[in-house]
Amino acid sequence: MDKLKVAILIVSDTASQDPASDRTANALAPILDAESKWEHPAVRIVPDNVFEIQRAVCEWSDDSVNWYNLILLSGGTGFAIKDNTPEAVSPLIHRHAPGLVHGMIAASLKVTPFAMMSRPVAGVRDKSLIITLPGSPKGAVENLEAVVKLLPHACLQSAGANSRNMHAAGVKSLEAEAGVSSGTHSHTHLQKKPSQCSHHHGPGHVAPKAHTSSNRQQSNDPSAGPNRRYRSSPYPMLSVEEALLQISEHTPEPIIIESPVNTAIVGSVVAEDVYAAESVPAYKASIVDGYAVIAPDSTNNAPSTKGVFPVASVNHANVGGSLSPLKQGTIARITTGAPLPPNANAVVMVEDTDLVSSTPDGTEEATVDILTGDIKPGENVREPGSDVRLGEKILARGDVISSVGGEVGLLASTGIRTVKVFKKPTIGVLSTGDELVEHDDPRTLTGGQIRDSNRPSLLACLSSWGFPTVDLGIARDTPASELEHALRDSLRGVGRASSGVDVIVTTGGVSMGELDFLKPTIERSLGGTIHFGRVSMKPGKPTTFATVPFKETGEGTTQQERKSKLIFSLPGNPASALVTLNLFVLPSLHKLTGLGESSRAISSKPWLAPQLGLPRVAVVLTHHFPLDPKRTEYHRAVVTASRSDGRLYATSTGVEGVGQRSSRVGSLANANALVVLRPGRGVGIKGEIVEALMMGGVYGSDTRLIC
Ligand code: AMP
Ligand code: MG
Repeated sequence: MDKLKVAILIVSDTASQDPASDRTANALAPILDAESKWEHPAVRIVPDNVFEIQRAVCEWSDDSVNWYNLILLSGGTGFAIKDNTPEAVSPLIHRHAPGLVHGMIAASLKVTPFAMMSRPVAGVRDKSLIITLPGSPKGAVENLEAVVKLLPHACLQSAGANSRNMHAAGVKSLEAEAGVSSGTHSHTHLQKKPSQCSHHHGPGHVAPKAHTSSNRQQSNDPSAGPNRRYRSSPYPMLSVEEALLQISEHTPEPIIIESPVNTAIVGSVVAEDVYAAESVPAYKASIVDGYAVIAPDSTNNAPSTKGVFPVASVNHANVGGSLSPLKQGTIARITTGAPLPPNANAVVMVEDTDLVSSTPDGTEEATVDILTGDIKPGENVREPGSDVRLGEKILARGDVISSVGGEVGLLASTGIRTVKVFKKPTIGVLSTGDELVEHDDPRTLTGGQIRDSNRPSLLACLSSWGFPTVDLGIARDTPASELEHALRDSLRGVGRASSGVDVIVTTGGVSMGELDFLKPTIERSLGGTIHFGRVSMKPGKPTTFATVPFKETGEGTTQQERKSKLIFSLPGNPASALVTLNLFVLPSLHKLTGLGESSRAISSKPWLAPQLGLPRVAVVLTHHFPLDPKRTEYHRAVVTASRSDGRLYATSTGVEGVGQRSSRVGSLANANALVVLRPGRGVGIKGEIVEALMMGGVYGSDTRLIC
């Protein structure tokens, strides 16, 4: 048998500065040499630095020609802050080997209880077995001796040797070959009394479970490695309608908050009936510029208003304090909106009068001729509360505060300073991918780098819908823990998400690649539930929707409530990400924002009741659209309203009659609609009427130009 290749990485700040100070490499080499199965080890020293540790390990394991069978690391496995070897190595491991870890700790525990203070990691990356050992020469030697007999066999299996042949002679022969046996008690560290043996193994078994198990289960664990990685998605394929139902079921009911009346309230749904706090107008007000008069009625016996009258006072709209009552036989100059003086009951428009004389100093009017005698009490006057009465219902639960401004005006004029509304959800957007570069990074792209276009485009779209957003940045695929930390921080409201997020939208990392860690991270690391991981649609097949539990400390109380937050993991392709944001995320945000309540509240007027998600309309195809045989396609298109026949027409933003690639960034650039093309053979025919989802406003057009 060819000798196996082994490398030793000494992880130590001190030794990296003074290589002569390292004694561990020299202590380990003889143990391997004594086995005569190993080449003489390659040795390298790095400081306690995650990046340098990972670089060395990857160089030794990932080189397809000169890879090493065994990589031993020594140092950095303790509890000191700088000890980060396990953190550096764990994410690189495809298949963990807890048996080896257990064996090493068990052996060291016989020497010292301090063995509990080491944090070893062992496992396989591609074909290389990686084991971390303590930093001290004594500890490293003890640990290596505990497992060294088994390592050639483990390395051969990892390298792809046929395990059936290797096992043909049974575990006993493997034990004999490795020089270990549970029955002989001859090899110190591995022995176990039969009575201590796990029930999984026959009496005397000490070999790792993998020796006896051939039923390998597939897994979506990122560390499961190529052999156990799924080769087709384990998630059932849902129809779009089924997926939307899941979203609706798992989106929580909206939360009520008290919101100040300002521009941020636009788009909110009112959560309870609102009653006017003040009358509008609050006083008897003139609706014209002119003269307040006492028009005759049955109670005042006033003379006709026709004739010349002295001008008693001037009332401007912004007048403060109390006004002197108007005496019969006098009139008062008044401006639009100003209060009438007591006793006055009508206003004569300035156009119906002539100035007769001014005061001696020429600054004021003295007498005015009123040319009409037809003035009725109440003419040109708004009675108090004639627009809105004090206590009148001005908005109902479910009303939407629109951007047109009417509702804000009503609230503002009736003295309402705060309103109970449903809380608009805050959405955090996270991009994932090692290849991503900030879109505004001035440096030229190299290698496989691409600009992160999804984050700005999704944030722009969410803001245009009126939702508060948080930019959660980019999470790299490697190490996988970066994604987990980014999601955990966002759920907890730490770092970039310190203002709190209700919904997390991610892009990338949901397809079938080995770096597509989102689903396993949500399920395994965050304990979340994936409600769907595949949808029968184009683009957007790997779209994933999950809920993740999190603990929230209630304000002013120490009681912790368990709630869940929503994660939408959208595909990385830019067109897929935007289409699925529109199709799946928007209805959920609408529900969270209370639009479902709104629909229920005004169900008596179905034409007014808002739908959740994009508005659906019928459109006429202006050309042939190719159909996908299996999946419903959401084809990016421009929808125009014809000025001549009043119909809506849809034209693809792609090449006429050609399918659209989900990776085409530009396919959404001018689109205002998604044309829903149900699966089928051939094409959607020109002139056919199909459904479309409107993402933006409809353009006006001349039918002759588009058909
Ligand atoms: P993934 O699902 O992570 O395999 O990504 C699928 C494709 O989308 C790859 O070509 C990615 O490079 C691309 N992609 C992923 N994230 C982004 C992003 N934030 N902006 C632009 N393209 C992306
Ligand atoms: Mg990716």
